[in-house]
Amino acid sequence: MKIREVRTWVLRHELPEIDVFGSSKGWHTVRQALVVEILTEDGLTGFGEAYGPPSVNRTLIDEMYAPRLVGKNALEHAVIWEDLYSTFRDYGRKGWPVAAISAIDIALWDLKGKALRQPVFRLLGGPFRTQVRAYATGLYRHRIADNATALAREAEAYTAEGFRAMKMKVGFGLDEDVRNIRAVRAAIGDDRLLAIDANHAYDAGQAIRLGRKVEAYDLAWFEEPVVPEDVDGYCQVKATLRIPISGGETEYARWGFRELCARRAVDILQPDICGCGGFTEAWRIAALASASSMTVYPHVWGTAVGLFASLHLTAALPPNPPAMLAAEPLFELDRTPNPLRDQLALNPPKRAGDVLDVPTGPGLGLEIDRAVLERYRA
Ligand SMILES: [Mg+2]
Repeated sequence: MKIREVRTWVLRHELPEIDVFGSSKGWHTVRQALVVEILTEDGLTGFGEAYGPPSVNRTLIDEMYAPRLVGKNALEHAVIWEDLYSTFRDYGRKGWPVAAISAIDIALWDLKGKALRQPVFRLLGGPFRTQVRAYATGLYRHRIADNATALAREAEAYTAEGFRAMKMKVGFGLDEDVRNIRAVRAAIGDDRLLAIDANHAYDAGQAIRLGRKVEAYDLAWFEEPVVPEDVDGYCQVKATLRIPISGGETEYARWGFRELCARRAVDILQPDICGCGGFTEAWRIAALASASSMTVYPHVWGTAVGLFASLHLTAALPPNPPAMLAAEPLFELDRTPNPLRDQLALNPPKRAGDVLDVPTGPGLGLEIDRAVLERYRA
């Protein structure tokens, strides 16, 4: 199954002012992604997606990776992964170069599934679950005076939609964070899971101060309390607080995750399949996590391609630890405005309340709406 062509699609949607939202990193004014399409000589097409601003990923794929892919056997994903990574290792062990490999790897698994007429979760070893329970990712900052009240209303809306778990942003200063967490917890009651995400806005000392102030609100986890480089800081925060700690969305490839796992720097590991190296590498990272008895909740952000890929990965993750009533992985469902996530699939995953069906079609099971691909092409 020879690769004939590699196409890149930079997709971009400028958010109207009303939809602009903020995290500790700044304001999100645009939704954008790099989607890759790999075509084979026998007429099959596979899709993948790369995490991060898309123009660098496009250049990497068009100029560095695509020439190495044409003519290769699309079924040989591990050989291709190693070739791309090793060839450019000296310049790209983290970040964009690995995200660009991720897009290609996801497309190769989509192709493999289509060639074998099997969903990717079965190629990974089979589903431990055919449905996943999602948590709502939202509760960002808005350009208004009273964020606490607005967050409480938004949290109530997720509850009314059927979400039993949700995640809110922190990292705006300790006083404001505490005010917002208190408002959201009061709005959703004690029975629902509430997680917080600082997007590495704090150092270990500040993160511990915040955690101590909000431990009473029974938080499900505290995500990215410190910068990803500060593994010692992660360990310090985790050893000090009674809140589970999570991280990993900005880490790359098995070597990047090795220290997090070996030192058990987090309770919940959150690799992003569109960034960490695709299915091939996410599977190895999941094995590292398993060997360290760590839970994996994949980080999910971006278009329908990443959403579908993450559903297959989540379906195939073994429960940690195995038990008759084992805790199942929670699936991240981004609720912020993004037409690339909502419109790109002709067959969006079926959802009832907070339960999503894992797609069962061959490959990713994703039917791309080519009109939408053209509409958002930058
Ligand atoms: Mg996060």
